[in-house]
Amino acid sequence: MQRLLSQRIAALREARSAAQRTRMCRVVTQRQGVQCVVNGRTLLNFCSNDYLGLSQHPQVIAALHAASSAGSTASHLVCGHSAEHAGLEAALATWQQAPRALLFGSGYLANLAVLQALLGKGDACVQDKLNHASLIDGARLSGCTLKRYPHNDAQAAARQLHVDAQAVAVLATDGVFSMDGDVAPLAELAAVAHAHDALLYVDDAHGAGVLGAHGRGSIAAAGLTVEDAPLRLITFGKALGGVGAAVVGTDELIEHLLQTARPGIYTTALPPMQAAATRAAVQVVQSAQGDALRAQLHANIAQFRRAAAQLGLPLMASDTAIQPLLMGADADALTLSAALEAAGYWASAIRPPTVPEGSARLRITLSAAHTTQQIDGLLDALARSYTPPTQIYFSSV
Ligand code: PMP
Repeated sequence: MQRLLSQRIAALREARSAAQRTRMCRVVTQRQGVQCVVNGRTLLNFCSNDYLGLSQHPQVIAALHAASSAGSTASHLVCGHSAEHAGLEAALATWQQAPRALLFGSGYLANLAVLQALLGKGDACVQDKLNHASLIDGARLSGCTLKRYPHNDAQAAARQLHVDAQAVAVLATDGVFSMDGDVAPLAELAAVAHAHDALLYVDDAHGAGVLGAHGRGSIAAAGLTVEDAPLRLITFGKALGGVGAAVVGTDELIEHLLQTARPGIYTTALPPMQAAATRAAVQVVQSAQGDALRAQLHANIAQFRRAAAQLGLPLMASDTAIQPLLMGADADALTLSAALEAAGYWASAIRPPTVPEGSARLRITLSAAHTTQQIDGLLDALARSYTPPTQIYFSSV
């Protein structure tokens, strides 16, 4: 191994180990609804993004099995674009009330693709400080100037959008923030983008399927349309229960992405079976069954927040399925997560660099698949194990 590289890897490994930041994957050997078997023990999962329980929905699984092929055999533009992909793109556009959708292998790739295709040197990307890492990385890949405004501060975004008349400007925000669970002020951001002739791009990974009429997401919930937010990201790995993503928007922008976005062009298309499964999930989400699942999810969120308030647990201000409990120090978050695990509940600790320094937390997530009793059980375990944090020196702005 190259000597300098070996030294660097060892130094980083030691620093991680000293800071107790070595991360590891847990092997799930069985999944049944929200029950997971890990190391031979059954845990109730309170940290997945399967907000509606669709990853195991019978219609979704049936569609997976009925698909033409396990693999797509090539990229979309070569010979990998099958009827399942075309059908899913059409279904997504209809659901999202937008002219067109374009598939990507993941939300991460889609964010790289969008920002790399729209922006270049001399252009500006103005982003919320708590945006997902893939939006930050996409702006970096594009070579544009990246500016980050304090969380959810639309007026600060407006000030940062004062850019050169020759510069393209994109205002990018998560719709629902992945580690905080709160919702972006999309109506204000749309007005700011419009006033500064900037394009508003909304990453709705955690809003799609969950918020708004027919689960259309945070843009619809804010009363906005494709006129206000000409591009949005829908990911399939959260409420839709699968994997992959689509960017949805105007014909002009989607055609530009199809022709130029390298993270879309130079990669194998999603498996047709995944596209078929996601199409089935999109059907469920828009149906009366989808309404019932969302009603159950929102009832579960309300039950959890009500009881947590009675217990004096300082949940972050979120009405979505993401209900973080801020702990501050890494050690406090790890200790609480371990105590919950000992009681049979899986709520993993989220630590820097995923969240800002000093803001380690339990990212508790709720699903329509949780029962009232399971949520009560988690609350009992929290009541027994929670002790107020030793230090919180984080501020979200
Ligand atoms: N955006 C947000 C807000 C996310 O939370 C995630 C997933 N963690 C992504 C994008 C990336 O999506 P994917 O998992 O499909 O790559």
